[in-house]
Amino acid sequence: MTSLPTSTEKKLGLVIDLDTCVGCQACVTNCKEWNTGGQMAPLTDINPYGDGADGVWFNRVHTYEHACESGSRTVHFPRSCLHCEQPACVTVCPTGASYKRTSDGIVLVDEDKCIGCKLCSWACPYGAREFDTDVGVMKKCTLCIDRIYNDNLPEADRVPACVAACPTGARHFGDLGDSNSAVSQLVRERGGVDLMPELGYAPTNKYLPPRTRSDRTVEIDAPALESVSVEGGFLGWVDRVLSR
Ligand code: SF4
Ligand code: SF4
Ligand code: SF4
Repeated sequence: MTSLPTSTEKKLGLVIDLDTCVGCQACVTNCKEWNTGGQMAPLTDINPYGDGADGVWFNRVHTYEHACESGSRTVHFPRSCLHCEQPACVTVCPTGASYKRTSDGIVLVDEDKCIGCKLCSWACPYGAREFDTDVGVMKKCTLCIDRIYNDNLPEADRVPACVAACPTGARHFGDLGDSNSAVSQLVRERGGVDLMPELGYAPTNKYLPPRTRSDRTVEIDAPALESVSVEGGFLGWVDRVLSR
């Protein structure tokens, strides 16, 4: 079994805004392209034209209909590894292939040490592990370590591929161990939450809950239209036509 560091110098992770995610799958696609693309070009890895097409996806977005005070609303829920502080996916690993880095808290898999026993995927309550049947090893979100520390990329691009791709700015990356970081401030301001905290895994990633409409400030620049009597004018005509 594999041990964990007692503490980490940083807690790098993602903050995902469930209020502004529109479920466009751009983060999913860019993650796939950057991390695990190439086997079937833009297609999924296994049986791309048949039933049960599948493959390795470090990031998946699920869509739910959620009951709320105004009836219901659609919530899109991106799901990837949460880089937990107490990850049983690491401690159950019999070979040391799964490990948590002391420097930044990122949870990784050393594919050369992985024997494909899948214990880690059973231990992960978030379904964040992905078994690659082509090569027989477990894979997972790396927090794009080959981007965030890549000196060959312009500084602005040294963010995870999913963060770079999100058109609504729903994904944020930073050090959640630094209370002054932009991500920590965002979590405080928006009441960010852990996913299933009762399990004790202490996820580093945080989710910003969907806001109710009354939480949002709406600025209207255009002047209000004058009210039009339904008795006359164009609207009156439309009303009479539709009433027949
Ligand atoms: Fe491990 Fe799952 Fe936590 Fe990621 S989300 S660190 S795979 S337990
Ligand atoms: Fe994929 Fe990188 Fe985002 Fe993780 S951080 S979900 S590996 S793009
Ligand atoms: Fe949601 Fe952004 Fe991912 Fe689109 S790219 S699904 S808006 S998190």
